[in-house]
Amino acid sequence: MKSGSSHGHVSHADAHASERVAAMLRDLKEAGLKATPQRVAVIETFANDPTHPTAQELFDRLRERFPAMSFATVYNTLDALASAGLASTLRLGTAARFDPNTTPHHHAVCDRCGAVNDIPTESMAPTDDAKRHLASAAPGFVVRAEERIFRGICGECGALVSRGERKLS
Ligand SMILES: [Zn+2]
Ligand SMILES: [Zn+2]
Repeated sequence: MKSGSSHGHVSHADAHASERVAAMLRDLKEAGLKATPQRVAVIETFANDPTHPTAQELFDRLRERFPAMSFATVYNTLDALASAGLASTLRLGTAARFDPNTTPHHHAVCDRCGAVNDIPTESMAPTDDAKRHLASAAPGFVVRAEERIFRGICGECGALVSRGERKLS
């Protein structure tokens, strides 16, 4: 049965998303948190969210449907997932962003609108080059992963900018 997803496009990603929801719910129970309707809603919303939301953004989105939802519920649920490795956190500005995609990937971040996109990669293991640079620049540093952030202008913003330029000319 298809749940009332308000997503514009349906793809094979939906199958991954429902697997993700199932894994996250299992994990919630292992973390000793009961699967209350509010926590389930947090997980369902988060697992299908490619935007790398902050806890506050998710809270604002959920509060429309769940007026009694507390920020603590949202934050604690995300925190439990992150501690179990079913979500990662990403710091690009002041607030931590949460990421439900646990497959290896880098990020592309738009300078204009702040959109964050996943860029799949084979592995997050540091390259030999990176290891060499670390050894000389940060002696003794034990590297866990090499994450890259590509900065630039996203497609949508690029289109807006060029449309604006056309208007001007
Ligand atoms: Zn953009
Ligand atoms: Zn990501």
